[in-house]
Amino acid sequence: MIKLHHTLILTLLVMTPGLASASTDHGKPAANHAVKTSQAVVNGPVPISESEQLKAIVGNLLQDNEAFADSRNEAYFRPLIAGQTPRATVVTCSDSRVHTHALDSTPDGDLFMVRNIGNQLATAEGSVEYGVHHLHTPLLIFVGHSSCGAIKAASGDYRKESKTIRRELDTIKIPKGGENLAGVKLNVNNQVAGAMKKFAHEVKGGHLTVIGAVYDFSNEFGKGYGRLNIINLNGETDSARIASSRLLSDAIEAKPVVSQKAGAARTTVKPQAAAAGSSDPHPYSYP
Ligand SMILES: [Zn+2]
Repeated sequence: MIKLHHTLILTLLVMTPGLASASTDHGKPAANHAVKTSQAVVNGPVPISESEQLKAIVGNLLQDNEAFADSRNEAYFRPLIAGQTPRATVVTCSDSRVHTHALDSTPDGDLFMVRNIGNQLATAEGSVEYGVHHLHTPLLIFVGHSSCGAIKAASGDYRKESKTIRRELDTIKIPKGGENLAGVKLNVNNQVAGAMKKFAHEVKGGHLTVIGAVYDFSNEFGKGYGRLNIINLNGETDSARIASSRLLSDAIEAKPVVSQKAGAARTTVKPQAAAAGSSDPHPYSYP
């Protein structure tokens, strides 16, 4: 068994600017991929070979996993072994700058995550359907984000991309040459519209709410860096109406309850309890 010691006191994340952007350099290895190295602190970023980069990346993953596993005991994992009752099906972009910790401090067993380029329903329809129809999550949320490379690509000329990438960009229906944030918003609204149509029965019955949001790590909304901005609630896109909706008003004032899942006390609603035990026949309907 590999046993790695923690030597991450002097670590630094070294990233090339091109790592997070849409690239068409197929087959060309990019240099210095997100390698954590103490050497960079002492001497500044230095060129390292691809094999050294790869070893460092795998080493970092194993070290981080070791720290994660060591900080939790069997009791933490036991509820996860028993099964899953996630609270939400979440469709985000695959972008490395978008992660669950921005939405949920203890996502284990909590969020049914679907990730693809452009946070789309069409390219992961089975996964989304599984979350809604089999796991019965009361919430389906599509999360777009600042500076989305998929949106940038879809609004430009991507004819030179591979067939498989083109196929996943073809389903992003936005105008060519548009501004990125406008494209991000339009795409999120399109995803919500598609989900409202696909899951019309669940939405109409009050068993599913569909939210569209933008994770804004560049503060383009002016609400603060890293804020999640809800721009669509079951097809409603008027910000004032969304803000004054019963769902959001109640959500902000909701008091935490003790969860049965891993991660201990936190706010949670189990879909089965909400559907079967609530006096409100449409607990998740809008407005
Ligand atoms: Zn993206």
